[in-house]
Order: sequence, then C-alpha cells, then structure tokens
Amino acid sequence: KVRVRFAPSPTGGLHLGGVRTVLFNYLFAKHHNGEFVLRIEDTDQTRYVPGAEEYIIECLKWCGLNPDESPQLGGPFAPYRQSERKPMYRQYAEQLVKDGYAYYAFDTPEELNAKREAIPNFQYGHQFRKEMRNSLSLSPKEVKDLIEQGVPHVVRVKMPENETVTFNDMIRAEVSFDTNLVDDKVLLKADGMPTYHLAVVVDDYLMKISHAFRGEEWLPSAPVHILLWKYLGWEADMPQWAHLPLILKPDGNGKLSKRDGDRLGFPVYAMNWADPKTGDLTKGFRELGFLPEAFINLLVMLGWNDGTDQEVFSLDEMIEKFSIERVSKAGAKFDFEKAKWYNAEWIKKTPVEKIRSSFTAILDDNGIAGVEEHYLNSVIGLIKERCVLLTDFWQQASFFFRRPHEFDMDAVKPKWTNEKTEFFKSLVSTFPALPSWNATDLENEFKALAADKGLKIGDVMLPFRIMLVGGKFGPAVFDIAALIGKEESSERVSQFLD
Ligand code: GLU
Repeated sequence: KVRVRFAPSPTGGLHLGGVRTVLFNYLFAKHHNGEFVLRIEDTDQTRYVPGAEEYIIECLKWCGLNPDESPQLGGPFAPYRQSERKPMYRQYAEQLVKDGYAYYAFDTPEELNAKREAIPNFQYGHQFRKEMRNSLSLSPKEVKDLIEQGVPHVVRVKMPENETVTFNDMIRAEVSFDTNLVDDKVLLKADGMPTYHLAVVVDDYLMKISHAFRGEEWLPSAPVHILLWKYLGWEADMPQWAHLPLILKPDGNGKLSKRDGDRLGFPVYAMNWADPKTGDLTKGFRELGFLPEAFINLLVMLGWNDGTDQEVFSLDEMIEKFSIERVSKAGAKFDFEKAKWYNAEWIKKTPVEKIRSSFTAILDDNGIAGVEEHYLNSVIGLIKERCVLLTDFWQQASFFFRRPHEFDMDAVKPKWTNEKTEFFKSLVSTFPALPSWNATDLENEFKALAADKGLKIGDVMLPFRIMLVGGKFGPAVFDIAALIGKEESSERVSQFLD
C-alpha cells in the first residue's frame, strides 16, 4: 500500500518549495490509490512558531491537497504531532545504545562551545569522540554514576568510520555518502524529546510510510536516516526516498529565497504570512490573486512534465499523469511571468460561477454591494479573459459598477470636432426608439449613423469608449454599452458632452 507523508516543522509560512513537496507526495499517493499523511514535526520547541500549523492546514485546504490522516482528522496512527508522541521515542534510542549504535553524551553546552572554539570545523564524531565526555570515553562505572546522579545527557548516534552509505533515490538513482564526513547527530535530547533525525525514522516506520519525498536540502541527512533504519532492524520496511530538485532563482543562480521575492517583487509564500514576532507581513500567492488551480499547476511544472508540450493540467489530470520518473533532478527556475501566465490561463478556463465569490469580495472591498447575480456573471464573463490576477478585476471592471469620474482627454481632445458632438447627440437621441438593446443592434445603428454623418467609424469608436469607461481599456465597446444599459449609456455620453 502506498503511504506518503508531508512532515513539516511548524516554523513559519509555507513557501513554494514546501507546497510543491506536498503536491508531489499527494500526486504520487493518489496516482497509486494510496494515502497521504500530514505529520507535524514539532520536536524542536525553540523553532516552534505559533500559528504555523494552522497556516499549513489552511494552505493545504486552499490548494485542494487534503490529507487522509492528520492531527486534525486523526487516523490509525495517531497522534500525528510529534510532541504528543514524545514517550514513544526513548525506547528506540535506548535500544540503539544497547546495541552499540548510539551512546550517551554528557558534555555541557559550555564544554561543546569551548571545543568548537578551539578546533575549527569541529565535528562530534569518530575523530574527537574520545576527547569528549560520553559513554564511549568514560568507564562504565563513571557513566552509571553520572546517570544515577541525574546529570543531563543526550543520546548520539555513533557514525561508523570509513564506511560508505549507499541508497537508491527515485530521482537521483544511486547516491553515496562517506560516513567520515557525517557527525554523530543527537537523537534524543536531555529533556527526552527526540530530534528530527530519530523522530522522522521512528514515525516513518510506525506510520508505515512507503515512499518519502522531500526537498533536496535533506539529502545530507539521508545517510543518518538510512543507518538508523538499518540499526533499528527495520531496513526491509524503509521507504523509498526521493529528494526533489531545488527551486532556483529566476536567473538560475542558486536556491530561491524569500529575499528574492522581496527584491524582485513576487510572492514566495502560498498565502499571506504575518510573522507573529515581528508582525512583518509577507504577501502570498492567494492574496495576490492566484487561483489555487493555477498555483498547483505552476508548481507541478517546477521539476516535472508529462513528456509532451502540455502545460496546463487540472488536479485530476496531474494525478492521472504524474510519475516520479519524470521528475528531473536538475533545479527548476522560478519565473514569475510564467506563473502569472498559468493564472491567466486558469482564469480563462474557470467557469464564472466558480470564481464569482472572489470577485464579489473584491467589489465588497471597493464598497460595492448587492450587485445582481446575473449582471455580475455577465461582467465576469466579459472581463475574465483580461485578468491575469483575480485582483485585476477592479481595475478592469470598475466602470460596470460606477460611472467613470475621469476621462482620458488626451486621447480625444486633439481631434475633437463639432461634427463629433453632433454625432453623439444624435446617437443618444436614437436610443429611446431602438426596438432592442443589444451589442449587435447598437453596433449597426452606430455604424449607420456614422456613415450618414460622413464620419469614419474609427474616429468615433474611441471617444465612445472613453465616454463609457474613462480610458482606452476594457472589452468590446458595444458589449459594455449593452451591459450597462440604455439609460446609463446615454447618461455617460451626455455627461461627457456637457
Ligand atoms: N520536518 C522536516 C521539514 O521541516 C521534514 C523533512 C522530511 O520530510 O524528512 O522539512
């Protein structure tokens, strides 16, 4: 049975890379009719940030990537928050000590600092282990006494000397590590809380995780985890690993960071994140006007493709077509212009009914309420093709809800003539007698009248637009007039002529 997990530490908002990790896990699970578990890795209390877990849940919901098991939903392997699983981990740390794969270390923070200052690039490992205070350097009697006296101590894994740890990554194929370069990581802290390294292995085992996909930044930790799986005697159950490619800066020069977003003016978080300590707000894709469908679509293309030219995928299509073999190991450049392109495509594709509430909210923000649904639907239908972001809606459509109060006079003034004034006066005077009010009839009437007055159609179309909307923008001018109505159109023309 395929079981995958997203295992975030609640340390802040979720950025692009985090959500892409969720997405790849989710797609793989759903493609194989498997289960997707959300596990909160909150064992490092010093990095814990209030609100981050709620943010993650909300974010998964917005993206439509809902877990099958989670702290909120529960499930057969509850609890799903590591801090609540604290009592489970000690026995495994003790087992490792008993079997000679781990040891107690009694060094105080001061002792460790002194060592780090004395030795550049100090690594707690085979080189210096003997110089430190631990159950490998002290006598059994000393160790027993220290423990009986209740002296604080941690459990460290004993990294072997001169070994090579090799495993098969689903994206990178065979990956090898020299154990001499890896330090003896702490597994259990003095307060009995496991570190990430122990907890991730124990929980992936207990929760029967079959595949673990995570960011490339975790690759250096992989040898520790692989050895722990082996040392705990669980090697046969070890998940298959895949370390996902980095998301790179737009110029391809290194890993994308939050600072790049600030510097270049694009979001890196899925949703707004307000840092509870500083109060700093970092803008999110959601608030900037991205549709969740577009957001996951642009994310899936950061490192994956289906082997064809297709770029726009619905979640169902992604589930159907996703395969980890098609994930590249090269980093994927993030391009905000391309991200916006996905959004524009998705706004075009999405039926009016499905995006109406977003637009209603924007109208609300601008003090417009109680718009008739039918009218709103027609407006959205006319302008959605012109919106790249949902938030473009107001700029594109405000004139449907209130009269323009400014006109782009530069566009009409220089070529204005009395004939034009006459033309618009006559035009308006024909409105009451028109048998119907729709774009086609109006256009015919408009053209006939222009011909009648010896005016070129192009010379009166632009002024008509400026009268109705205020500037050189908006959808087809006769569609606009048809929608705002006969009286409103005639009043806007008259207002302009006055
Ligand atoms: N807790 C780790 C993180 O915050 C999870 C890494 C993993 O998936 O093993 O990213």
